[in-house]
Amino acid sequence: MGVGVLSRYGPLLPITGDTPRVTLGEGDTPLIASRHLADEVGCQEVYLKLEGCNPTGSFKDRGMVVAVAKAMEAESTTIICASTGNTSASAAAYGAHCDLTTIVLVPKGAIATGKLAQAIAYGAQILSVNGNFDRALELVRELSDKYPITLVNSLNPHRIQGQKTAAFEIVDSLGDAPDYLAIPVGNAGNISAYWMGFREYHEAGLAKKRPMMMGFQAEGAAPIVRGAPVENPETIASAIRIGNPASWSQALTAQDASGGLIDAVSDDEILAAQRYLARREGVFCEAASAASVAGLLKMSREGHSLAGKTAVCVITGTGLKEPELAPSQTDIPTQDVEAELDAVERVLALADVSATPKQR
Ligand SMILES: *Cc1c(COP(=O)(O)O)cnc(C)c1O
Repeated sequence: MGVGVLSRYGPLLPITGDTPRVTLGEGDTPLIASRHLADEVGCQEVYLKLEGCNPTGSFKDRGMVVAVAKAMEAESTTIICASTGNTSASAAAYGAHCDLTTIVLVPKGAIATGKLAQAIAYGAQILSVNGNFDRALELVRELSDKYPITLVNSLNPHRIQGQKTAAFEIVDSLGDAPDYLAIPVGNAGNISAYWMGFREYHEAGLAKKRPMMMGFQAEGAAPIVRGAPVENPETIASAIRIGNPASWSQALTAQDASGGLIDAVSDDEILAAQRYLARREGVFCEAASAASVAGLLKMSREGHSLAGKTAVCVITGTGLKEPELAPSQTDIPTQDVEAELDAVERVLALADVSATPKQR
């Protein structure tokens, strides 16, 4: 198996001999067993799929590599997307790698610092739209209809195709699908992609079962849970601050066909889960990513029978993208100290501790 989604899963993707096999090393992300979360929720095992380990720090790279390779195959020279941040970071990276012009429309003032820094660094043309994500998406749809520019939002079916490979990887490493798959839901492309992947592996006889798909929206941006679009979605989790998901019906299909559930979690629950992951598991993720774990914790509180079950929580992106959220992570301020040993010892209250070095 080579490096990247196209070479690892090529035969299961809609690519041809003419599709360039580009890669930035996306996919093949770690699936780690939790140390504490399984006990906390009463599961036999909880695994964390660390999608923040992708080249631009989120799962978006899996679908972007396919969308960009197909754009190149079609001899397109310009790609465009609307983005809450991670899609633009990914599009800009693959656009740079493949010599394409990348145009991104982001909601003004509503995108995380790290994500904007990425789009700038990779040299995308960035338009800061005076409106929310849903409006920016309407605009790029119109532009890509009107001009020879390739849309690389998850409305582009190649994005979903690439993203389904995460489900393949989970089955490849566990030997079967888990009982539950917990995942944040924003534009709902990813939950649809995982369901496609699990279904395909099951149909091909590569998995004995299919997981129950448990999707979690933020309470202030939960159109699927409410059953109606949310005009002004509000949540601290900017990656899922979406009021009218493009893959709404596919997400409902994933929920219904799997016997799963799409539910909402509050910002407080999201921040608590983000903190739990960082402090107890050593995994620092984006706020949006923590919605999967917040959802699993909620299921446990509400009495879902998790005993003997395995769950996978999709950790969609890295916390390094949102440095502005770090203060909410901690009530312990940093401590200033003089650059002297005795001063450091005093601050750490080490006076009573034996000075003998620890045996190793
Ligand atoms: C895009 C994104 C989501 C939401 O995924 P959808 O496919 O829009 O539902 C969740 N978390 C992170 C970090 C993302 O970048």
